[in-house]
Amino acid sequence: MTADLPPLRESLEAHGLLAKKSFGQHFLLDLNVTRKIVRLAGPFEGRAVIEVGPGPGGLTRAILESDAGRVTLVEKDRRFVPLLEELDAGDGRLTIVQADALKVDEAKLAEGPTHLVSNLPYNVGTALLIKWLTGPWTPCALTLMFQKEVAERIVADTDDDAYGRLAVISQAVAEARIVMHLPAAAFTPPPKVASAVVHLIPRADRPDRATLKRLETVTAAAFGQRRKMLRSSLKQLGGGALCEAAGIDPDARAETIDVAGFLRLAAALDR
Ligand code: SAM
Repeated sequence: MTADLPPLRESLEAHGLLAKKSFGQHFLLDLNVTRKIVRLAGPFEGRAVIEVGPGPGGLTRAILESDAGRVTLVEKDRRFVPLLEELDAGDGRLTIVQADALKVDEAKLAEGPTHLVSNLPYNVGTALLIKWLTGPWTPCALTLMFQKEVAERIVADTDDDAYGRLAVISQAVAEARIVMHLPAAAFTPPPKVASAVVHLIPRADRPDRATLKRLETVTAAAFGQRRKMLRSSLKQLGGGALCEAAGIDPDARAETIDVAGFLRLAAALDR
């Protein structure tokens, strides 16, 4: 089906489209690359896929070639809608939603366990990740392109310089690993930094939303002053007593506390 479509570059030219900086637009125009990302995201085995920020549709074409079931696109920039409509085979499989992904209610777009795939706009990437991991709706798997430095912050271990709130919250909810690296030159126009694809699988036994809220509170305080001992950085939340209730050394620093330790602190906050 997608084999009959003109190359992406020609589609962009035919529609007179240029990348807009304000929308964080850096396109993947090589279908070999987008197919590889989709292979890493799948297999979908007929499950629904939501793609955020399809832009000219390079990833979308690869998703449509795959074993995905229903495919829903959420694109903020209305200029891309006519071009994306050309990908619609008219069989009801594809739905195009022109909206801001930060504001959409994915539960209304999802159909059963749903995968999320996105070459994210860098300026809203982490906000969207937190929304999907801690919000009322969570996908069954997420395959997301980030700038390399953000990808490293998601998968970081204790004592890594990149270890912080994003690692704790992401790993409390999901198994997360970097599955692909991409140089800036893979994108049109190239961004200033390299990129990486992160694959996350939310755990069945992930913390409930109330615990995640407390985890956000505790990690904000602990990493807000990451060089201080926890008895001092967590002072407002109970300091040394909170640490002791959680079985954590109050003289330790945030970067040495693993995800399980932060979850104990979040639980102790409730008591
Ligand atoms: N997926 C395309 C690709 O790989 O070539 C485009 C990726 S580009 C990095 C990011 C895309 O996200 C752009 O199409 C941009 O318009 C869209 N976008 C930016 N902010 C958005 C938002 N808040 N909600 C939905 N889409 C957004």
